[in-house]
Amino acid sequence: MAASLKDELPLMARDGSFVREAYDKDLDELRALSDNGRRVIAGLQARYISDTNFKSLKIKHNNVLGYFVELSPAAGQELLKSPHAANFIHRQTMANAMRFTTAELADIESRMAVAGDRATALELEIFTKLVARIGEQADVITNIASALAETDVAAALGELAETANLTRPKVDASRAFAMEQARHLVVEQALAHSRGGTFIANDCHLSADEGGHPIWLVTGPNMAGKSTFLRQNALIAVMAQMGSFVPAKSAHIGVIDRLFSRVGAADDLARGRSTFMVEMVETAAILNQSGPRALVILDEIGRGTATFDGLSIAWACVEHLHEVNQCRALFATHFHELTRLSQKLSGLKNVSMTVREWQGEVIFLHEVADGAADRSYGIQVARLAGLPPAVLTRAGQVMQMLEENAQKNPASDLAHALPLFDAHAKPVPAQHPALAKLAETSPDQLTPREALDLLYVLKQLT
Ligand code: ADP
Repeated sequence: MAASLKDELPLMARDGSFVREAYDKDLDELRALSDNGRRVIAGLQARYISDTNFKSLKIKHNNVLGYFVELSPAAGQELLKSPHAANFIHRQTMANAMRFTTAELADIESRMAVAGDRATALELEIFTKLVARIGEQADVITNIASALAETDVAAALGELAETANLTRPKVDASRAFAMEQARHLVVEQALAHSRGGTFIANDCHLSADEGGHPIWLVTGPNMAGKSTFLRQNALIAVMAQMGSFVPAKSAHIGVIDRLFSRVGAADDLARGRSTFMVEMVETAAILNQSGPRALVILDEIGRGTATFDGLSIAWACVEHLHEVNQCRALFATHFHELTRLSQKLSGLKNVSMTVREWQGEVIFLHEVADGAADRSYGIQVARLAGLPPAVLTRAGQVMQMLEENAQKNPASDLAHALPLFDAHAKPVPAQHPALAKLAETSPDQLTPREALDLLYVLKQLT
């Protein structure tokens, strides 16, 4: 193979010029003829000069005659009388030159013309033979290739284990899932290469064995690291079960038979399915198929629809995973209401990504802590993203109204709260009940008695 093919190969065989020199004699000759045509002609010219002794003899080319021998008229006449005349066929007489061809020249010319094409054809013939020979060895070659690929993967993982500080996981028949100081290798590398940030390692304990919490409900603001946390644990499970070391201080995994993930809002609109539809189709597959040995990661279920049906779907999914699928699962959500489920589902544990507020800004600590997140900090994150200040202020007002409404009437349907948005033109600040009562009153229409009563009411409200 190495003897037949050049080091640098063209993209397509039909481009030719891929067979090594000296591999095929005929090919070398054809190439010499086409590539070194001029040299061959120059050699012939030198031979004719020495044979005929006409120093001014030249071989030239034009489109009418092709290659021809040219002499001065005097030398031409002399040639016609010499014994060489038999070899030189007269073609043209001009004022200052006589032109001849020879059988040899015509032959070289026609061979030169076809040599290029024939060289390529011969190369293709050689190529076809090579392919056939390789085909005969297909099994051997495939075996070697897969052995090499396996070695390559094993060597790469071995090197990674050393350089990226990986540890040997413990995989057994239990239904444990215990990660200590686990990391997401890709995010870690990206952080190291960009602003030099450090990756914060996190624990994860999803044991489905007696007394464990196989489902973790992960809350926390956007950008806090929920997706990263979910993915890193799933990736570690894959790495461990394919025989690799893993990015964690320690990892104990009871064999997982299927890994399901529903992450990111990959749109499939081109194929006629909306984002929400894709989300639901994937969720359906998870709920229908995952069993007690499955690992499931679900990132933000119910996001693609209105708040209440989204929340309801997410709620029912958690219950189903807990009661029916009984798998190990990480469920990231922005629906804080779901955290109440931990009171009722013994295997559910609330965790959250820690953040600190500092001078109105939110700082992500990327640490997973026990307990639910207190707030979602959406507006602060929106500020980081550069939303206009007017929008942020207005969002703050609307949020305050919604929160008050929810407090006053915990069972209230958010749909009923939506008319609050009508207040867009005139934001209503948070009010003390006494002030609210005053705002409702028109003093001009009060009798003195009513005014006195109102005073008592106001006193009671303070
Ligand atoms: P979320 O899903 O909560 O919106 P992501 O998981 O997408 O958040 O994380 C947002 C960014 O935060 C990541 O791109 C990464 O730069 C950073 N990040 C996430 N987890 C960590 C971590 N454990 N340590 C350091 N940085 C992290």
